[in-house]
Order: sequence, then structure tokens, then C-alpha cells
Amino acid sequence: MNPAVDATPSPGDPDVLIVGAGMTGINQLYRLLEEGFTVEVVEAGDGVGGTWFWNRYPGSRFDSESYTYGFLFSEELFAEWVWSEHFAGQPEIERYVNFVVDKFDLRRHITFGVRVTSAEWDEASRTWTVALDDGTVRRARYLIAATGVLSVPYLPEVPGIDDFAGVSHHTGRWPKEPVDFTGTRVAIVGTSSSGVQVLPVVAPVAASVTVFQRTANWCTPLNNSPITDEEQEQLRRDFAQLKQILDTSPHGFHHAAVEDTALDADASEREAFFEQVWNSPGFRKLTSNYADVLVDPAANQLWCEFIAAKIRSIVHDPMTAEKLIPKDHRYAQKRPPFVAGYFEAFNLPNVDLVDLRETPMVRVTARGIETTAGERPFDIIVWATGFDFGTGALLRLGVRSGDRLLADDWADGPATWAGVQCAHFPNFFFPGGPHAAAGNNPRYNSDQVEFVTDLLCAARAAGQTRIELDPAAEARWTAMVDRGAEGSAFGSDNYYFGSNIPGKPHRLLLNAAGRPKLLKTFAASRANDFPEFHRS
Ligand SMILES: Cc1cc2nc3c(=O)[nH]c(=O)nc-3n(C[C@H](O)[C@H](O)[C@H](O)COP(=O)(O)OP(=O)(O)OC[C@H]3O[C@@H](n4cnc5c(N)ncnc54)[C@H](O)[C@@H]3O)c2cc1C
Repeated sequence: MNPAVDATPSPGDPDVLIVGAGMTGINQLYRLLEEGFTVEVVEAGDGVGGTWFWNRYPGSRFDSESYTYGFLFSEELFAEWVWSEHFAGQPEIERYVNFVVDKFDLRRHITFGVRVTSAEWDEASRTWTVALDDGTVRRARYLIAATGVLSVPYLPEVPGIDDFAGVSHHTGRWPKEPVDFTGTRVAIVGTSSSGVQVLPVVAPVAASVTVFQRTANWCTPLNNSPITDEEQEQLRRDFAQLKQILDTSPHGFHHAAVEDTALDADASEREAFFEQVWNSPGFRKLTSNYADVLVDPAANQLWCEFIAAKIRSIVHDPMTAEKLIPKDHRYAQKRPPFVAGYFEAFNLPNVDLVDLRETPMVRVTARGIETTAGERPFDIIVWATGFDFGTGALLRLGVRSGDRLLADDWADGPATWAGVQCAHFPNFFFPGGPHAAAGNNPRYNSDQVEFVTDLLCAARAAGQTRIELDPAAEARWTAMVDRGAEGSAFGSDNYYFGSNIPGKPHRLLLNAAGRPKLLKTFAASRANDFPEFHRS
């Protein structure tokens, strides 16, 4: 350690301040406590769960299998918690996260209802000074932003949006008090993963539902089901094996890859296989589909034609069916939603679809929504319009080191190493942030949490108090992420690139090389004593 530096924390300051009590923040808290660090978590919400605290809209539910999404750091926890369904709903998920926090006595380390407004690195004391919106300040050696990639809701800039006199909520800021849709006229704006979950739940009780669609999405059935007693037993019996698969699988799921290809199959064989995929649960439509579906446009087209035929067979009105079939992107070029009764809902007499490409939204009025086709009155507007993905929360933290602002450094898009740190901001980490991987989030976010934990332990063991990423390592990783944008399965015009947010730089915010690259990079770094970092 450099003797000129006064790196002694003040009494009462934690070693680590974590921002965010979602899956990543709680995982990081648990692991650092386990390693003997003192830790405080600050969280803007008044409860734990992050995504599962804020997104309590009707129909909110996993599309990762419940038991593959939960924490894997304790077999006892895995055995004790009983998921009722393969894809649990929000209330159950929120209960789960609360159960975990109480079981491991983590709640006393969390301060709720406070938002970080700025964070400043102090080189002399080698600590971060973090200001909260209640006027208090925290100081800690390390600052870990577990602020999530989907935690800043986006509302479109429609004139008059505040003029609406009825009830309106964004799905990502849904209130705790239940919203009663009975007999009401409802607008659902947005048809991505959240909007498509809301419709089937609300349509049966509402007087009318109008769905405002800008982009049709390739929706396929979630195929959820209760977990039987036999399955429960088997899950517990196979924990070690399941964990081993989840710790290493390329996408964080336990789904087996398929080697056969769509283009080599004959038509009837392919039809039968696609039928089987259509009937399979959740993300298997991506992970256990034909091997060429996500990489070969011709194979992808065959899968799209299969889905289009399904939509035409489900939706009675041919014009509505055509509008619900995507025409501007291939399967998985936007995050494909998984649905239960979405297409069927359009057969109800009280459900109507407005294509915003034909009749764009003009303004929100006190009574409802006006498009170029006229005004429609509503009692409730559900804004299912997505998030400022990847960088939204991090850029709002007010992170500063000397004259350098993170927001300036990232003005053209994020630059990171493995999505855990960026150069010039010592002792600042952001597991669960941009540039990591894609798939079942908690699994690769957990890889990042483990890496940050190991790095902090290594520094502590060596008596070091300052960890700063080498700019060359950042440049290498960022260039790799940017290269992945070319011809990627993620397309080029969607929230993965920030395209849904006006004025946001157009940069791929995910690492298209995925979890295998992340795991390999972390393993090499550990094996070589973290050469990407300057430690002192
Ligand atoms: C509706 C929905 C469904 C999803 N379903 C799945 C799924 O099935 N499978 C999957 O893998 N992923 C899913 N995701 C992605 C999901 O975000 C991740 O799985 C995971 O929950 C991320 O956890 P996290 O802790 O990294 O971030 P979050 O859960 O977003 O938690 C971040 C926390 O940080 C807090 N925070 C942010 N900024 C500040 C600040 N300045 N001050 C204080 N606190 C702050 C926020 O309040 C929030 O609680 C879904 C996302 C959404 C929105």
C-alpha cells in the first residue's frame, strides 16, 4: 500500500456501498458479507426485488424457469423454497426475494427509499462519497452499482401525456394498490414483453381494451404449468447437476441445444419439429430450436413463417392477424415475448388493435388518446413502453472522479471491461450492467458478482485499497462488443442498441459473444491475478 495515502475508512463507514436491492445487489451483498466485508445497500424502492418490486402490473411473470432464475448460492435455500409454477408470477417472485433476504438476515444491511443522486471518488482517502436524495451522505471504500439494465422506465414524448384525467401507469412503476379494471375502458400502449402480458389478464374484465401497437413482435406461447410433486422432488434431488449446468451453460438456461438444422430437414419433419418447439416452455424457442434458426436468415424465415401461420390460425379477423405478424424484423432480432392467451384475446369482442404505423399517436388528451384517426376516450392508460436499457440507471447516478463524469465518458455509449468496471473510475463496479451477456440474467450477473467478490478479496489479501481498470483492457472489450453488432442475431434497431430512446447513441449494449466469452475472460483474469486491473 502507498504509505502517503490516508486510506483508513472512518469508523462506521462500510467497506462497500451497493446501490440496488434487486437480484444482483442482493447476490452481491450476500457474497461480500460471506467474505467478511462490511456492506450497506441503498435502494430507491421501499422493498427488495428490483424488477420484481417495480413491475407489479397485471400478468407480470417470469419467462425464465423459476428454479433456474433464483439464487444458487445455497442448496438449503433451493430445497426450502417451493416454486408453484415453472414460470412464477410477480407476487410469488417478490415473496421469494423477501424470503431470501429474511432467511439470511440481509434486511438490516439495506436502507430503503433512498435514491443516489451523486457519487464522487476521493483520491486522497480512496473512498467514494455518495449523496442520497434524503440529504444524507455515505462514504465507502468501494461503490458497487447493481442498478439494473431495465430499471429506468421510458415514457414516449407524446404531447399532453400529463393532461390525462384518468388513471395511467407505466408497467415498470406499477402501484402497490391494485388497479381495478372492471368495466373500464383501457388503453395498452406497447406490445413488447410487458404489454403482451397485460392484455390477456385485463381483457376479460374490462369494458373495452384498445391495444396501441407500433411494432408487432414474434410472440410464442410461454407454456407455463404448475410444478408437480414429482418434479419438485426431482429438482431437489438433481440440485448439484442443475447448478453445474446453470453455472456453465451458454445462455444460463438448462435447455439442451439441438444440432439438427432447419434447412436440412424435409418439410414435414420440420413442421413437426417446429410444432414441438411451439409447444415447449419459454426460451426453448431460442435455445432448443434448430441450430441454424438464430444464425441463418433462411432458417429464421422458415420459423417466422411457422409462427405467422399460427397467428393466422388463432386470430379470427384476417386484417388483425396480419397486423400482429411482424414484417420488419426476424425472430429474436427484438427480444421475443412469451405469451399466454395474447393472440386469442384479439378474438374477444371488446378488444381492438390500433396500428400506430398507420395512424400515429398525435397527443394524449384529458379524455384519452388521439391518433391521426381521431380521439378515443379511456379510463385507464397502461404505458408498456419499455426502458432506457443498459445505461439508463448508471448514467443517472452522477458518478464523478475528479473532473471526469461517467456521463461524459459514456456520451457515445458505454465502455467497459466485461461489464464490471470502466477505466478512470477506481473502486467503482457495476455487475448486472451493460456489455455482459444475454440470456437468463441472474446467471451471468452472478458470474460478474463472483468476479467482483474475488477481485475485492484479492486486493484485501494483498493489503491494497485501490483497483482501477487498465484503459487498454476496456478498449479491447468494448471493441469486441462493437464488433458483435455487425450482423448480430440481435438485429440493429431496438432497445439492445438504445434505439427506443430518442437521442441515445446507437451502440450495441450487450455482448453478442455471450456468456461463454464472459466466463472465459473471467477465468483467464483470475488465473493471471487480474492483469486488467492496476491495484495498489
Ligand atoms: C417485466 C420484466 C420481466 C423480466 N423477466 C425476466 C426473466 O424472466 N428472466 C430474466 O432473465 N430476466 C428478466 N428480466 C430482466 C431483469 O431485469 C433481470 O432478470 C434482473 O431482475 C435484474 O436484476 P438487477 O438486480 O440487476 O436489477 P434490478 O432488478 O433492476 O434492480 C436494480 C435496483 O436498483 C435500484 N436503483 C437504480 N438506481 C438507483 C439509484 N440511483 N439509487 C437507489 N437505487 C437505485 C432500483 O430501484 C432497483 O430496485 C425482466 C425484466 C422486466 C422489466
